[in-house]
Amino acid sequence: MTAMSRFVDIAEILDGGHDGERVAIRGWMYNKRSSGGIQFLMVRDGTGVMQCTLNRSSFDEETYNNVEKLPLESVVELEGVVKVDERAPNGRELSVNNVGGVIESQPDYPIIRKRHGVEFLLDNRHLYVRDPKLQSIFRLRAKFMEAARDWFREHGYTETQSPMFITAACEGGSTLFEVKYFDREGVYLSQSWQLYAEAMICSLGKIYTIAPSFRAEPSRTRRHLSEFWHLEVEEPWTDLDGIMKVGDELVTHIGHTLAREMPRELRMVGRDPEELLRLETPFPRITYDEAVEILQKDGVEMLWGDDFGWQQEGPLTRHFDLPFWVVGFPTGIKPFYHKPDPRRPEVTLSADLMAPEGYGEIIGGGQRIHDYDQLLERIHEDNLDPKDYSWYLDLRRWGTVPHSGFGLGIERVLMWMCKLDHIRDTIPFPRDLRRVFP
Ligand code: ATP
Ligand code: MG
Repeated sequence: MTAMSRFVDIAEILDGGHDGERVAIRGWMYNKRSSGGIQFLMVRDGTGVMQCTLNRSSFDEETYNNVEKLPLESVVELEGVVKVDERAPNGRELSVNNVGGVIESQPDYPIIRKRHGVEFLLDNRHLYVRDPKLQSIFRLRAKFMEAARDWFREHGYTETQSPMFITAACEGGSTLFEVKYFDREGVYLSQSWQLYAEAMICSLGKIYTIAPSFRAEPSRTRRHLSEFWHLEVEEPWTDLDGIMKVGDELVTHIGHTLAREMPRELRMVGRDPEELLRLETPFPRITYDEAVEILQKDGVEMLWGDDFGWQQEGPLTRHFDLPFWVVGFPTGIKPFYHKPDPRRPEVTLSADLMAPEGYGEIIGGGQRIHDYDQLLERIHEDNLDPKDYSWYLDLRRWGTVPHSGFGLGIERVLMWMCKLDHIRDTIPFPRDLRRVFP
């Protein structure tokens, strides 16, 4: 073993930054095979995965045999020359002629390269997070957050936070998680920042947050987690149309950024980047009434006044290749704070953004009631106790202004952009009805 050259990231090599150069890499041996005096090692370093080839003729016998015996997930330092080669999985390989430090792992790595059951992989999630497909998704997720924050910064929004411990009165609903909070009862985990955001717009103006939300979803589905990351926006002097434009631009910016900056990762997870580059503002809008008609024509069970479930969103969104808005949900299926449409009070100034290809809702939002008397009336109509909403009503007494906002489920958008058939792999350690370990 001779001294190693400087270590470089595999991603830099795959991007073509070191063609023909002598470099060293270090990482985990994710897969290997050998045939007729050549070993092919797939090495993963956190930035990418690359094929490394070792020719028996370039090594002394002991080194070559020791490498051949290494169990999967051993850590290796390898030095060699970068070759452009069509046959290599990512178009480039490292032709190795020097092996540096090695940390041998135990021989019984549980995730071997054949198909395992979903439950087995979830039991071993702490190891399975190393899988190259998951690695690509998590890198896309990080880029997603970065792109969202860039968009907000460029458009003058301030990031702020709301509490995770709340009292039931703030949110209501059947999916609250109750927590033990000193000796107090009726304390829950937040499902949305919204009511607090409405207070904060009078302090900061246009705001957003990226934070976990918690919902005790009673059934297992492909698109619900009990802990998900919620990107929420709230802004003063903005109506329904204005907040939908924010959704159009934000989602388009995120999709374009992933396609331009991480095409390799997108292809690896099964999404053609060109499809995301086709996103274009504004997204089409249909009314709730039109959506009901489309579904009824298709023979899907749906009555005017019903909320969409998976049985409706799946068939509805298969009609579309690009996202679209459904506007004007009935007052009866929306929480009390949604502003009724002045021209037609049986529907609200609300809108959900639907992802195409059967994915369904990714954003829910709308215009909020800013008038004190109207809000109080809706609270009474929904049989809620105004005392529980005293601080929220106060916001309509001092400096009230028309305002709107929305919540976007980060895992939902990733699931669609990565073309996955289940939400679980969009987050490192998914939490659902049955799983909080590991
Ligand atoms: P759904 O009807 O699909 O369960 P919702 O209408 O209850 O969603 P909202 O309260 O509108 O959801 O929340 C805003 C966004 O948060 C949704 O559009 C979705 O993207 C995301 N979201 C809501 N619940 C979950 C969940 N359990 N897991 C992952 N994402 C979620
Ligand atoms: Mg919704």
